[in-house]
Amino acid sequence: MPRLLLLLVVALTLLVPAAWADGVTVFDDDHPGVRDLDPDLLHALRMAATDSGIAFHVNSGRRSPAQQEQLLRDAVKRYGSAEEAARWVATADTSRHVSGDAVDLAPTAWLSRHGAAYGLCQIYENEPWHYELRPAAVESGCPPMYADPTDDPRMHR
Ligand SMILES: [Zn+2]
Repeated sequence: MPRLLLLLVVALTLLVPAAWADGVTVFDDDHPGVRDLDPDLLHALRMAATDSGIAFHVNSGRRSPAQQEQLLRDAVKRYGSAEEAARWVATADTSRHVSGDAVDLAPTAWLSRHGAAYGLCQIYENEPWHYELRPAAVESGCPPMYADPTDDPRMHR
């Protein structure tokens, strides 16, 4: 194979999956991270996307336990200790991503102002991209945020 063609093939192989991952939105039923989210959460996300006209990109939605465990191992390496990693990544037992009840999105400027009307709330001060469904927020606004996941009682089961 001519070298230029080979380079092109390699470049496409590397670029296409990355571009696809970047293009995942709350409407992508073919993507398991979107399709397997809690139906009420997904419904709220699609209502917000439709009303705002913003294509919310899903950087991470529903995760398998194995995916969550890999993220946690990576975080322990990156942050140097299990204690520090716990500020950013939950275990497979406690992660709201594994249960399908959380989504990491971009952009979030519109949601931070209007998400409560859809029950969509930022939960952690240190994770402005992480949203969960809080149906009561439609009436009374989003609850106060936790500083980070270690403050969240659900992470200490
Ligand atoms: Zn998250």
